[in-house]
Amino acid sequence: MKFDIHNHNRRVFILHTLAGACVAATVPQAHAATDTDAVKETDAYPKSMGFRLNTANVDQTKYPRHTLAQRCGECQLYSSKAGDPTGNCSFFKRVVPVDGWCRNFKQRKAAT
Ligand code: SF4
Repeated sequence: MKFDIHNHNRRVFILHTLAGACVAATVPQAHAATDTDAVKETDAYPKSMGFRLNTANVDQTKYPRHTLAQRCGECQLYSSKAGDPTGNCSFFKRVVPVDGWCRNFKQRKAAT
């Protein structure tokens, strides 16, 4: 089989173009993730879950089973480093404050 330099260059060009497109597609997503890290009370889905940045501001009439002891820091779905005022919520898959709350609160089991 004869080596065709034009075909070879074309293949290299296509591979480089595809690689560039992959990088371009990943970089903005990583950037967007940082911009939207923290859950906001005004975000549509958290809002529908009654999310509050501070458990003291939960609408008690709307959520009568809520207590002030319920906060993200006591939720099974929350994880953070000791002393960090924020942590990751595995439900929203974003950052929430230790004193936050949403109606998906699940009491963390006591350590045994
Ligand atoms: S699921 Fe738990 S950690 Fe996540 S926002 Fe609701 S109360 Fe906080």
